[in-house]
Parts: sequence; C-alpha cells; structure tokens
Amino acid sequence: MLELLRAQIEKLYQLDFYRRRLAQASLKPADIKSLADFARIPFTSSAEFQAEIRKKPRECSLYNPQVTRINFSPSGEDLYPVYQTAADLERMHQVCARTLRAAGVTSQDLAAITFGYHLFIAGLFYQNQFEYYGAKAIPLGPGESERAVRIINDYEVTVLVSNPTFAMKLAEQGIPSLRTLFVGGEPFTSVEGYPARVKAAFSRPVAIIDSYSMANCMPIARSCQRETGLHIMDEFVYAEVIDPASGQLVAPGEKGELVLTHLHKQAAPLLRYRTGDLTVIEETPCACGRRLTMPKGIIGRTDDMLKVKGVKFWPSQVGTVLRSYPGLFNRYRVQVSSSRGVDSLRLLLEGDPANSALLDGLAERLKTETLVKFNQIEIVEKLAPGPLVVDGRAGRKF
Ligand SMILES: [Zn+2]
Repeated sequence: MLELLRAQIEKLYQLDFYRRRLAQASLKPADIKSLADFARIPFTSSAEFQAEIRKKPRECSLYNPQVTRINFSPSGEDLYPVYQTAADLERMHQVCARTLRAAGVTSQDLAAITFGYHLFIAGLFYQNQFEYYGAKAIPLGPGESERAVRIINDYEVTVLVSNPTFAMKLAEQGIPSLRTLFVGGEPFTSVEGYPARVKAAFSRPVAIIDSYSMANCMPIARSCQRETGLHIMDEFVYAEVIDPASGQLVAPGEKGELVLTHLHKQAAPLLRYRTGDLTVIEETPCACGRRLTMPKGIIGRTDDMLKVKGVKFWPSQVGTVLRSYPGLFNRYRVQVSSSRGVDSLRLLLEGDPANSALLDGLAERLKTETLVKFNQIEIVEKLAPGPLVVDGRAGRKF
C-alpha cells in the first residue's frame, strides 16, 4: 500500500493543486516514508476540490489532457465535471469485475440497468463493468416500470441494478427470473431491517449487493454474496477514518469520517479527501478475499457533529435509525439543552401519537447506534417548521 501511495504522490506532485498542499506541510514526495508520514499530508476539503474542478479545463490542474470521458455530477444547484482517462476507466472496470465475481455474477447472467445514462455517471458505470466482465447487460434506464417488467420477463433477466425503491416496485409486478439485485442511490445497508424488507418483496431468494461510491470516486466499496458489509476496494482507494474534530486517525472499528486517496487515478485524483461521510471500518477477512469492511456502510454525515454528555454525537444518525420505521414519522427534531452543566437530549417526532408503544424499542436502538441516551422521546401530531437540530447550549441551529 505504501509503495502505491508513494508512486501516486510522485505523480500528484506534478499538479499545482497538490504540490501547494504538500508545500503547506513542508513535505516533498521523498519525505513520505511511512503511513505515519502520509498522515501528515493536509486534507483536501470538498470545497477546495470543488473550487478547482469547476475551473475551465485549461486552468484546472486536476484536468488531464488524456481525458476520454466527461460525466457531470450535481453539487448544490450546479454541476461539476467528472473526468476519466482511458486508463482510469480500464482500472475502474477491472476492480469492479472482481466485485462482480464476488457477487456471484457469471458470464451467463443478463443484467438490466435502471440508472440514468446521460450526463451522470451511474448507468454507464454499471453497463461498462458488466460488459468488461463478460456478462450481458440491457441499458434500461430509469422509469417506465411496465416496459421494464416486460423486458425483464421476456429476456429472463437474472441481475437487476436499481435503487431499492424501484426494485421493490418492479418486484410487486413479478420478475421471477431474478437472482441478484445490485442496489445504489439510497441508504440501504445502514437502514436496519430494510435489506430484509427488500428481499421479502421478491418471490424467491435474491442476493442483494450494496455499493458505495461518489461521482468523484467510483467505486469505493461493495458487498459480496456473503452479505457481510461493504468491502473497501483497497487496490483502488486508500481509506482512512479520522476524528472529524481533531483530524487524527481513529482506531480500527471506531466511528469517524471517511477520508479517501486514489491509488492510481490520472484525471481528478483525490488525495486525503474528506468525504464528510460517517462510517466504521473493521478489519475482518471475508471468505471472498476482502479484509476491510464497513459493516453498516455509511451511517451519517460528519459535518453535524455535536458533543453531548461528553460523547461525540452525530444527529444525522437519528435519521438513519428512523428510516427503519418507514411511513411512521414525517419529520424529526433533535433538541440539546444544558442545565447546571448537565446535557439533556430530546427527540421530537412528527407522527401518530398512537404509535408511542414503539418508543421504548426506538430509544434502545438510538442508544446502541449513537452511544448517547435520549432523555425524552415524544411523538407529536404536528411539528412546527424549523431546523433539524437545535443546540440550545451554543444557540446553534441547523
Ligand atoms: Zn466478502
């Protein structure tokens, strides 16, 4: 890993954007002799990356004249370009092919891909990896569920690539040839009970493969047919988990912000890029040959971290837990207050107060996931419009 990182840093040093960052820390590529040295390289924030990548190609030091494909990805109200060279695409397909094998896909499988193909990256990303692997793929594209079901049944499609919601909609209409479902585009593994619910929508056992990636880093992680969590594709990206407040690496198995470095990418490579995504990486060898796994995928965002009762608390984790109670709660609000130095945490849920019997179980789940005990959880019929989080201690709202 260190050798790959060092070789990549040599290349990144040729780019103004990264040379300046190493210079900030008085580092030259030759100074990176260990992973501890690597951890001295300043992080790249999303804002810094965005400011550079949105420049015109001839002014952007992350652009590469060998680029052969430009996709786009939404960020805020605008789009930013996703650059790939032919070598970047080849490597992406190679690493994905290995995950298709681990997912149990064979050359006889026929996949139907329901992600979009124009402008954005997801549709072509899947189409190309199935073709590269030697399987068959139909570029269905999104929507038109009746036509999708007809094609899936006429051609006995065995693999569906879809967001979980659309997959369940198709399953309702009966697609009995399906054996494997690749999901993406929505929180899935992180939502307790959701994978079981999606499985139950099908008339026969279906293996579900979850993936995690960002447009500017595709792929990052994917589960295998053993469904043990999302394995980091560590021949493609180097993943670190940091304490978002201090920037220090956390111990394996501890919660923190995911930081990514591309090991080979030529166009728009990432170096210690802060994803803002909250996760846990465990080192647990899986029978498929992978060893770094995010058992629950992405469990929240790190930009909203609070310290409550001396514990790091990420309010977005509440939303992740609530997704496992579909249709019950419309909105929620987390309120933090303090009296004589003692913090108090309150959760208001908008829903039917008749469901209050669920609250003990919910309180237990929240304590397990966030490590903080809520002092009060209450269902109200109507929650006044307002922010998700009100931190009365600091007058902070977001
Ligand atoms: Zn595995």
